[in-house]
Amino acid sequence: MIVFDHVTKYYETSDGENLALDDMSLHIKKGEFVFVLGHSGAGKSTFLKMILREEVPTKGNVYVAGLDLVHMKKRDVPYLRRRMGVVFQDFRLIPTMTAYENVAFAMRVTNIPEEEIRVRVPYALSLVGLKEKADRLPEELSGGEQQRVALARAVVHSPKLIIADEPTGNIDPELSKEMMELLQAINNVGPTVVVVTHEHELVQEFDKRVITIEHGKIVSDTGSPEDAGQTGETAIPDGEEALL
Ligand code: ADP
Repeated sequence: MIVFDHVTKYYETSDGENLALDDMSLHIKKGEFVFVLGHSGAGKSTFLKMILREEVPTKGNVYVAGLDLVHMKKRDVPYLRRRMGVVFQDFRLIPTMTAYENVAFAMRVTNIPEEEIRVRVPYALSLVGLKEKADRLPEELSGGEQQRVALARAVVHSPKLIIADEPTGNIDPELSKEMMELLQAINNVGPTVVVVTHEHELVQEFDKRVITIEHGKIVSDTGSPEDAGQTGETAIPDGEEALL
């Protein structure tokens, strides 16, 4: 699903170059649940930007669902992103729209028929336990509930890949575990889930693959618990089912 093949990323700055990713190679398989763990400045955001194709590597290549992101045409990028579900750290909900409308909006912009929206949105909201609060505005919801609306919006179009950027960064610790459990439940029905976080304690509570990065390098990779022995292997996908 995701392959990093010797990815190095430098950012140009006024006083030289900043190394953000340093010869990073990894393979995340379809259906895996993976934590990417690292301190501030380790390269987590850059890692995500590579997958979302917001940045391209200085060296190396990134493949998502069999697509070569370095050589991808610019016009195909929105198409790639629509195939993913992203939960942003700051939720990014529209304050003037209800929970329902926030989730529906993401589908409307991609021209999904209204009949389908009417079925999928309540389903996504019920999946995250918010069906009863569909008519509330974000300000009428708690932080944890807003986060769950963001999750409903990320899954409503049934993406094969879900990316969560510090999903517990802005919610209470007791709700963090609940959020992770929801992500696991979603992973159990099929999609690959990648959770980027700096929260070491939270990661330890789950028996999942943890890729730890420091200074743009992978310093440890536990591999998938269900798949011991194939840790950190990198392979260029051939014939992997493409999303597009
Ligand atoms: P994290 O998300 O783990 O905090 P980042 O990927 O944001 O890490 O940053 C990795 C390194 O790249 C840091 O040293 C950071 O200062 C640098 N960096 C990130 N973005 C930029 C940028 N746009 N310009 C210059 N340096 C950057």
